[in-house]
Amino acid sequence: MSSETVADCCADGHAGPALKLADALARILAEARPVSGTEVLAVRSALGRVLSTDIVSTINVPSHANSAMDGYALRGADLATEDETRLEVIGIAAAGRPFAGEVGAGQCVRIMTGAPVPLHADTVVMQENVTLDGDTAILSGGQRAGQHVRQAGEDIGAGDVALRTGTLLRPAELGILASLGVSEVSVRRRPRVAFFSTGDELKSVGEPLDTGQIYDSNRYTIYGMLTRLGVEVVDMGVVRDEQGAVERAFAQAAAGADAIVTSGGVSVGDADYVTDTLQQTGSVGFWKVAMKPGRPFAFGHVGDALFFGLPGNPVSVMATFYQLVQPALQALAGMPNPAPPLTVTAVSTESLRKKPGRREFQRGLLTRASDGKLVVSRAGREGSGVLSSMSAANCFIVLPENSGPVAEGEEVTVQPFAAFV
Ligand code: AMP
Ligand code: MG
Repeated sequence: MSSETVADCCADGHAGPALKLADALARILAEARPVSGTEVLAVRSALGRVLSTDIVSTINVPSHANSAMDGYALRGADLATEDETRLEVIGIAAAGRPFAGEVGAGQCVRIMTGAPVPLHADTVVMQENVTLDGDTAILSGGQRAGQHVRQAGEDIGAGDVALRTGTLLRPAELGILASLGVSEVSVRRRPRVAFFSTGDELKSVGEPLDTGQIYDSNRYTIYGMLTRLGVEVVDMGVVRDEQGAVERAFAQAAAGADAIVTSGGVSVGDADYVTDTLQQTGSVGFWKVAMKPGRPFAFGHVGDALFFGLPGNPVSVMATFYQLVQPALQALAGMPNPAPPLTVTAVSTESLRKKPGRREFQRGLLTRASDGKLVVSRAGREGSGVLSSMSAANCFIVLPENSGPVAEGEEVTVQPFAAFV
C-alpha cells in the first residue's frame, strides 16, 4: 500500500485502498489546466469572471494628495510642539472644488474630506480640534505634521500592476477597475460543464412517482453549486442504468464540455455503469477516495474533458463537489491557486462518532457561545442520504483520517459553508 492511500475500514463493498483526499485533490489539480479562449467584457459583466491579462494602472489612485478628514489644511512646520497654534483661514477646499491659491506660513485652508490638499500644505487637523475666532483658527496642541493626508498613488501607483492575470473579479475588483478608469477587461471564457444524473429510480420534478421511485435532487444541488461558481452549465437530465445509455451520454457530454459531472452509479453494484464506461470510453485516474461521505468518487478523462463521477447519495454529492470538484473548476476557470476553504477551530458541544480511516465531513452548526468561544454541534441526522442535514448545517466538521471519536468539549476543525462560494 502506498503512502498516498489508506486501508479500507468498512465492509461496504469497496475493498482495497482508497486515495487520501489531499492526494486525490493534488492529482486532480495536476490535470486541471485553464480553458483557452478569452473575451472582452464591460467591467460590470465581468463580475465573477477571471482576468486573462494583468491590469496595469495608467494613473495614480488617488490622483492627488487629499484630505482624509473634514478640518483645516496647513503647513506641518507651523504646528507648535505642545501648545495651540493660531493660523489665518484664507479659503476653502471641497471635494471636486480645489482651493486655487497656495498656503503660506501662518495660514490654513478649511478643507473637506476628499478635497485636494492645497499647494504647500501637507497636514490636516480635524475640525473637532479647531475653534474659530473670526478668521483665525485655533488648533489644539498634540497634532502631528503630515497627519490625515492620503498621498497621491497611495492605493495604486501609475505603472503598478493593480490586478494580476488569474484574479477572480469580485465586487472589490470591479471597484478597483473603475477607480483606474478601466471600462472593459479581457477575461477567460467560462468553463462549460455538462452534468447528468444516473439511476433507474429517478424521476424529474413534474412527473408522478411510482413505487420505488424518487425525485432527482442531485441535478438541482449540482446545478446550484455550478451556477454559484459561475461556470456555463449544460443540464443533460437523467440517464438510465444501462451501459449503452451511459456511453451515449458520455460521448455527448465530452463533445462540448470542458468537464463532466455525474451522480450515481460509481459503486460496484450490478447497476453501476459509470466507472466501467469511464474505463472504456476514457481513462480512470482513480475511483476511490478515503472520505466520508463520498466514497466512491471517480475521476478521469473523457476525450479532452475532465470527468467527475460523484456518488449518488445527496450529501456525498455536495461534500465531494466542494472538496474535489470546485477547486478543479476554479483552476479550469483560470484561477492559478484557488484558496483552500477557510477552516476555524471550535469546541464540540457533543461527542462525535468517528472511526480511523477516512476523512469525515460531518454536518455542523457553528455558533458563538455566550463566553465568546466558537462552538459546534451536529446538524441534522447523520447519513449520506439525509440532504436536510446540509440545509440545517452551516459548516462541515472535518475529522482527519487518523482521528477516532471526539469527546464532548474537544476542539475540532470546522469548514464554514461560506467558504464555498
Ligand atoms: P448510487 O450511487 O447510484 O448507488 O446511489 C446511491 C443512493 O443515492 C441511492 O439511494 C440512490 O437512490 C440515491 N440517488 C442516486 N442518484 C440520485 C439523485 N439524482 N437524486 C437523489 N438521490 C439519488
Ligand atoms: Mg444508482
